[in-house]
Amino acid sequence: MSLTDTPLAGGPSLLQERRIHTAIPGPRSQELLDRKAAAVAAGVGHTVPIEAVAAGGGVVVDADGNSLIDLGAGIAVTTVGNAHPAVVAAVQEQVARFTHTCFMISPYESYVAVAEALNRLTPGDHAKKSALFNSGAEAVENAVKIARKHTGRTAVVAFDHAYHGRTNLTMALTAKAMPYKSGFGPFAGEVYRAPLSYPFRDGLSGAEAAAKAISLMEKQIGADNVAAVIIEPIQGEGGFIVPADGFLPALVDWCRANGVVFIADEVQTGFARTGAMFASELFGIVPDLITTAKGIAGGMPLAAVTGRADIMDASHTGGLGGTYGGNPVACAAALASIDAFENDGLLERAREIGGILRARLESLQANDPRIGDVRGHGAMIAAEFVDPQTNAPDGVLTAAVAKACIAEGVIVLTCGTYGNVIRFLPPLAIGDDLLNEGLDVVAAALAAQ
Ligand SMILES: *Cc1c(COP(=O)(O)O)cnc(C)c1O
Repeated sequence: MSLTDTPLAGGPSLLQERRIHTAIPGPRSQELLDRKAAAVAAGVGHTVPIEAVAAGGGVVVDADGNSLIDLGAGIAVTTVGNAHPAVVAAVQEQVARFTHTCFMISPYESYVAVAEALNRLTPGDHAKKSALFNSGAEAVENAVKIARKHTGRTAVVAFDHAYHGRTNLTMALTAKAMPYKSGFGPFAGEVYRAPLSYPFRDGLSGAEAAAKAISLMEKQIGADNVAAVIIEPIQGEGGFIVPADGFLPALVDWCRANGVVFIADEVQTGFARTGAMFASELFGIVPDLITTAKGIAGGMPLAAVTGRADIMDASHTGGLGGTYGGNPVACAAALASIDAFENDGLLERAREIGGILRARLESLQANDPRIGDVRGHGAMIAAEFVDPQTNAPDGVLTAAVAKACIAEGVIVLTCGTYGNVIRFLPPLAIGDDLLNEGLDVVAAALAAQ
């Protein structure tokens, strides 16, 4: 790669266009993929066969000069936009000052400021505290540690289609065997699975679906044994499943009545993604604990657990932490990102993007019965593909559409237990033109199948 024919920098100054010079992968990208195959463990896959060299606004640019429309935001991470100028400036300033002290050794201000911001922004006006970590899985692990310490109980309840991470405990909480769990056990104990509300497939009201889950918890585990219920308010990897109205509030009420800690895993739904700062707000619930990561810091690795001060303080001093948790460079990026979420109209932008996505996908659905369901909120919308005769999930069609989109220079991600969902998670920095062009490509790819 030479500096003359690749972009010098990413961010919003990158030309905002779809531009395809070569087949994807082009020759330079292929060279990197060959090196990857030889040097990187086979278990680490990739969705888009390119060598990324720059990204910003609504595009990712590869080493062959192709510019792809980004409808995935690195899995809902670069919500503020890739290489957002304020994030870049905050990172540069902090990285030149100090890169690490370990917050557990020598505390610094930015960590405390991120905790204060999370305590202020998360749902509920009760006293809150936060602790910072490196990844969503680590945040989930710590939320479970805290809930167990607080309650003195051990059982943890997760749901069908759940995704909570790839560490041992979070694999146990995750529902899907392939690719996340298969062959990687034995898994952490005292994890139970309850049925979810999945309106497109179960036909139940929120109250009916909650009654099923609550009955399972009471009869198969016993309320007195349950430390925590953990759920994604809108499931991410599981297929962007939006529970029926009333499902989440009924679970929260049951938790309150039984001394169970209700944990909302907002790693994917958090930080303006759904058009609310946190998806819990869309359902009128106030979680006891909330886990965040992905969109929190504009692409820098950071995660958090935030919640009721008395629960968060349950651990003895020294019981929570980690060498890198709340790294100062990541905290600087988070403060710049949070400032953008609060002051740059990003909640409204997420709702606008959602309006465009929903209208386009629903109009496709009106003429194509293979789109069984269009669902989601804000800039987190998905289409579920089915066999029109039986409603059976059609993962083969879904994979073919996604592959064709990528070949045409549009990054789309799939998800769902049956691999039959295409999810749209564009950076909020994308323009309407690029978003619509991306959806044109999706429509053409679907029509061609
Ligand atoms: C991605 C994700 C995780 C895991 O986060 P990592 O940073 O990959 O460890 C946990 N929960 C949800 C809902 C996620 O989407």
